[in-house]
Amino acid sequence: MIMDLFRRVLGRRPRIVDQPRLRVLGLQEHGIRREQISSCALRTTDALHKAGFQAFVVGGAVRDLLIQRAPKDFDVATNATPDEVRRVIRRSRIIGRRFQIVHAMCNDEVVEVSTFRALQGGADDDQAADEHGRLIRDNVFGSQEDDARRRDFTANALFYDPRKQEVWDYFNGVADIRAKRMRMIGDPVVRYREDPVRMLRAVRFAAKLNFRIDEAARAPIAELADLLANVPSARLFDEVLKLLLSGHSADCLRQLRAEGLHHGLLPLIDVVLDEPVGAKFVNLALASTDLRVAQDKPVSPAFLFATLLWQQVRVSAERIEAAGESPVPALFAAMDEVLDAQKEKLAIPRRYDAVMKEIWSLQSRFVQRSGQRPYRLLEHPRFRAAWDFLVLRAEAGEIDPDLARWWADFQDGDDAQREALLVQDDKPKRRRRRSIRSRRGGAGATGDGGDGADGSQQHGGYPDDGDDA
Ligand code: ATP
Ligand code: MG
Repeated sequence: MIMDLFRRVLGRRPRIVDQPRLRVLGLQEHGIRREQISSCALRTTDALHKAGFQAFVVGGAVRDLLIQRAPKDFDVATNATPDEVRRVIRRSRIIGRRFQIVHAMCNDEVVEVSTFRALQGGADDDQAADEHGRLIRDNVFGSQEDDARRRDFTANALFYDPRKQEVWDYFNGVADIRAKRMRMIGDPVVRYREDPVRMLRAVRFAAKLNFRIDEAARAPIAELADLLANVPSARLFDEVLKLLLSGHSADCLRQLRAEGLHHGLLPLIDVVLDEPVGAKFVNLALASTDLRVAQDKPVSPAFLFATLLWQQVRVSAERIEAAGESPVPALFAAMDEVLDAQKEKLAIPRRYDAVMKEIWSLQSRFVQRSGQRPYRLLEHPRFRAAWDFLVLRAEAGEIDPDLARWWADFQDGDDAQREALLVQDDKPKRRRRRSIRSRRGGAGATGDGGDGADGSQQHGGYPDDGDDA
């Protein structure tokens, strides 16, 4: 008892944030001006206010504005029920069956409006939670304070009133944001049991915002990581994809690994990051993804997963080949083996399989540089993705950069130049080499990190990406 008290006073024991205490901060204190809110969110909150309801911008948008970042989207929370919101906002529709929310639609923007709700019963209520404490029900309306309490981190539980330009803060979220700290609301162990995905969210926000996960929230992760196995696979996949597309994918994966969270999801990360060529390849792929996200360019999940799984495919293919199989069938067998093994962990949706397999299998066709074959490969609908993939391999030192250069030249060349580049089946290799160098004085069109880093995921141009997001 006394030791407990001592520890608490000395602050050695991680403090659990449990008691809400509302602070209302004015413009001077938080600095968020009404004009920083999207026009659709403003129109929505204004309409609700006019009809006599409370309405706040909530969650990630408030957090991001406090650290001077542009929010991804704007969510609104209100004390109006979905039916009431529907009545107030003409262009809106109710979605969701289990918990209804309203989509308020403006010209090119949709704002999600949700009614304040409460945690029902909590993890101890076996009506609301499964045997691991995972919440299966959270669909009762509640007060604004309840709504703050059900959120995950203090930084995500802030409400902004655009009319009065006030921030309503129940759990000291503004102070935590200033201290760059992800702090869990309530007891982290209970909150992770309710929803294990919060462990992945902790990692994602910490990497993306450059925050630290508060020790009380970090410490239990290693022990609870296995609970991710109980999360439906589609939701897990969505979360991992958010992590990879956060713009900080490399940091996210490093942190996932540091917390031991990757075992059930992407166990290959251990193998890949400990092997020099594999690590270089994956890091180049992640860096190029992050760059594309920063530039607001589309990113293809299939391409990304193809890069993450590639080293496994290579290793399996080598093993199968060593057992006597010829290269192409060995590659196909390896692709199936790796995709099947991955399905046991984080199930990558099947719709991506075909694209990943095409990207991988086309790699074996790049070595064929005679006759009509290079022309046919160029016409292949997945050529661009496969070529970007080849460039990454060259940059990582997995293959001879001359091969990537040859393909750069071949793509750029006119008819005569292409003809000259073709490898003559019956002529010695020496001649081929000379012809490549003589065209560009041996200067590489790629392989210098420039082209590949930018061009490696021109997904917008990939047909049938398998990406229905
Ligand atoms: P991002 O910028 O990535 O969209 P976000 O904070 O807006 O970050 P969302 O997933 O869009 O994250 O969720 C919106 C808000 O809903 C969060 O800020 C948080 O308050 C709450 N929330 C979302 N997921 C959870 C969860 N698993 N547990 C508790 N609260 C959650
Ligand atoms: Mg959001």
